Amino acid sequence: MATMASPQHFMATSGSNDPVWVHTEPYSRRPHFPKLEKDLQTDVCIVGSGIAGLSTAYELVTRGLNVVMLEARDVISGESGRTSGHLSSGMDAGYVEIEKKHGRAGAKAAAESHSWALNQIGEISKKLGIDCEYRHLPGYQISQYPKGDREHADEMEELKEEIALTKELGLHTSIEEGLAIKGWDGKIDQRDAAVFHKEATFHPTKYLVGLLKWLSKQSNFSCYTRTRVMSVEEKGIEVLGYGSKDVQVSTMDGHTITCQDALEATCVPLQKLSVVAQMEFYRTYCIAMRVPKGSIEDCLIYDQCDPYHYVRFTACDEKDDYLIVGGCDHKVGQEDERGRFKELEKWVRDR
Ligand SMILES: Cc1cc2nc3c(=O)[nH]c(=O)nc-3n(C[C@H](O)[C@H](O)[C@H](O)COP(=O)(O)OP(=O)(O)OC[C@H]3O[C@@H](n4cnc5c(N)ncnc54)[C@H](O)[C@@H]3O)c2cc1C
Repeated sequence: MATMASPQHFMATSGSNDPVWVHTEPYSRRPHFPKLEKDLQTDVCIVGSGIAGLSTAYELVTRGLNVVMLEARDVISGESGRTSGHLSSGMDAGYVEIEKKHGRAGAKAAAESHSWALNQIGEISKKLGIDCEYRHLPGYQISQYPKGDREHADEMEELKEEIALTKELGLHTSIEEGLAIKGWDGKIDQRDAAVFHKEATFHPTKYLVGLLKWLSKQSNFSCYTRTRVMSVEEKGIEVLGYGSKDVQVSTMDGHTITCQDALEATCVPLQKLSVVAQMEFYRTYCIAMRVPKGSIEDCLIYDQCDPYHYVRFTACDEKDDYLIVGGCDHKVGQEDERGRFKELEKWVRDR
């Protein structure tokens, strides 16, 4: 019989199973902060303590601004504590599609911002001495079909078009025919790949806990947990520098933060019903399997299936690494959820 995790469990993480990151970085090591019990004034109020909130806090605090962070549950309890941690400049949507919608300038901005962000995590972890397994490695995008199938050739044509564009956008990419990934010796041969040479990966909660510990030592940063924000509103009028306008952030317990700017780093925006109505909510699945250290190339792999499958590694113990395999996404509540973990296991064992 399925058992439901306790309400207390959901204060630390947004899913009922614990992600692999909890094995090597337990919840007990996360910093603790008080609940907000008073009204405050600050330069910027950040709502949400995931990777978006914490990364923005770092950029603002290092520029000398006063930052107050408010979190509804415990710190890092959202998606960021459950991610598989691929830091990639290769985009799910594909640059060809992005260029069609947003033009060359939009595609270039996407390429540059993703490359900047994945490097910035490396720079910050080096600067703050956060040991979070950050490393550069190649990302391989492969066809979902075995080599020799017509569909394989069609998908490789699409990948070639994507790679030609990424080169023009300044990314270090190539097409490798007959690529052999060390450890991939199953029957299914999907060789040929679009390679993104300068992707990266990390241990997301080791990184975010390290960043949060550093932030909590800064005099211009404070954080309050178990403090749910109910509204973010602009108050007052400012025209051509006359008058004054500020933002009021109100919490469920009736306290107010008055600030110059507020950031909703809540993954799903608060209050913007037009955005929420357009969003599609997906369930995704991820498993971690022990593999002997060094037996498989340390890389990121994605296939072209919709929904796709992906692979990466993280350290487990002296003997083994964890192979993290994810995918099988589907719209929440619209499909049968049974058998998805088994499906992922079969997918990887076949290869
Ligand atoms: C299994 C899985 C694998 C993934 N793999 C990857 C990957 O490999 N690479 C990648 O780039 N992305 C991946 N993602 C997606 C990625 O994890 C998310 O896009 C990212 O973590 C979102 O970060 P965030 O800071 O925006 O949101 P979150 O980490 O969800 O943080 C939002 C925070 O806001 C808080 N909050 C919400 N509402 C309120 C409120 N009213 N008041 C106060 N606080 C509030 C929440 O409690 C939460 O702590 C994956 C996701 C999953 C689930």
